[in-house]
Amino acid sequence: MSILVYIEHDEGAVKKTSLEAVSYGKALGEKEGKSVTAVALGKIDDAELTKVGSAGADKVLHVADEKLSAGVIQAHANAVAKAYEKEGANTLVLAKSSLGDAVAARLAVKLKAGLVSNVVDLPDTNSGYKVKRSIYTGKAFAITEVNTDNKILAVKKNAVSLRTDGPDAKVEKLEVELSESDFSAKITSTDKATDEISLPEADIIVSGGRGLKGAENWGIIEDLAKAMGAAMGCSKPVSDSGWRPHHEHVGQTGVKVAPSLYVAVGISGAIQHLAGVNASKYIVVINKDPEAPFFKSADYGIVGDAFEVLPKLTEAIKAI
Ligand code: FAD
Repeated sequence: MSILVYIEHDEGAVKKTSLEAVSYGKALGEKEGKSVTAVALGKIDDAELTKVGSAGADKVLHVADEKLSAGVIQAHANAVAKAYEKEGANTLVLAKSSLGDAVAARLAVKLKAGLVSNVVDLPDTNSGYKVKRSIYTGKAFAITEVNTDNKILAVKKNAVSLRTDGPDAKVEKLEVELSESDFSAKITSTDKATDEISLPEADIIVSGGRGLKGAENWGIIEDLAKAMGAAMGCSKPVSDSGWRPHHEHVGQTGVKVAPSLYVAVGISGAIQHLAGVNASKYIVVINKDPEAPFFKSADYGIVGDAFEVLPKLTEAIKAI
């Protein structure tokens, strides 16, 4: 028996969330005494795939068919199902993502597998097979019991410590026969609306609130975001006032984010804002009011005036 991990890549670069899924698979494999095989589809260099070993894969199967772009979801599901069969796997692990959701749903039907999404911990197998998942944008956890032989676990971003100490993985080519119908529906293009870093997928976000006083002051947020390679976000009143576009509004009624680092500047930390950010790995709050509620959710805080702190912070980051 083995554990199969589905790898997503961005034009040949393995996604960090997939490496986290591999590390999760490795920890699960150690617990259950199983080996871990990763499967990658489409055009990607072997050199990139060997790196999947450092996150914990014992072996990587590469289905090198260039037709397997991320836009052919049914073909992905069937190719992964064939790799799953070949490896004699009984568990598929993947990252929770929009592509992952689409592939996992099809595989759950095909493999008659119980699917659990947003997984944050290893299953508890003391009595049954109980999986802890994050719900309500990270505010609560649910325990889901899976009683099928085949299992699919979609791991939440930032929920797993990424391993980096494994040896390079052995890459094997895998030929799979796919039918024409697997390619009958295809996403042919996704046009970027903007060159800005996409907020829901950003790894670092600098977000501004009403404490910035007006649109004309956003330069200090932009400068810090640029220095950090971050996307920009804002609180609801900021977008309601037209200081920033609505697609930057973070929170319960806006975008839900899960970056590694969320920097909140001049945002009070209302519950509706926190609902969109509490899946962040680290939160840094910059606010001149030491009593601002956001400090209670912060990993690090700076009590100070944003107009003094931000330029200094940006300079310090640029100097690194
Ligand atoms: P404020 O609450 O005005 O806070 C400004 C902060 O800036 C203060 O803490 C102040 O100390 C600090 N500050 C001021 N000057 C400086 C300075 N010079 N330097 C540093 N700090 C400074 N809000 C959201 O953000 N997202 C949502 O999705 C959302 N959904 C909502 C849904 C509903 C149904 C409702 C009722 C409300 C919702 N809200 C949402 C609004 C939310 O309740 C808060 O009103 C809002 O988040 C407050 O925005 P803010 O923190 O930018 O402004």
